[in-house]
Amino acid sequence: MLWAYYRRRAVAITAPRGGLQTYSVRPHGRRFVRCTRCGCVTSWEKERGADAWVALNARLLDHALVADVQVSVLDGDKTWRVIDRYRRPAIFISPSQR
Ligand SMILES: [Zn+2]
Repeated sequence: MLWAYYRRRAVAITAPRGGLQTYSVRPHGRRFVRCTRCGCVTSWEKERGADAWVALNARLLDHALVADVQVSVLDGDKTWRVIDRYRRPAIFISPSQR
C-alpha cells in the first residue's frame, strides 16, 4: 500500500450512496473504508474529528495531480521515523498502464 496522510478537514471522499463500507479489525481500532463494488480500501482513520489524520490509498488518487509528490518512507517498526524520501512519478501508475 501507498498511503497519503492528510488532516481530516482537508479531505473529501465522494461515492454513490451505499458505495462505501466501513469495518474495523478490533473494537475501537482503525476504521477502514472500502468500496462495496470492487473491495478496494480507500482510506483508514483511527481518530475522529477535523484535526485527526486520515490515510488515503494513494493508488486511487489522480495520477496527474500526485505525480510530483514527495514520498516519505517510514520504517513502520515502532519509531515511524522517515528513512528515505524520493520523487518517483511512475509509482503512481499501474504497471499495466505504463
Ligand atoms: Zn471500487
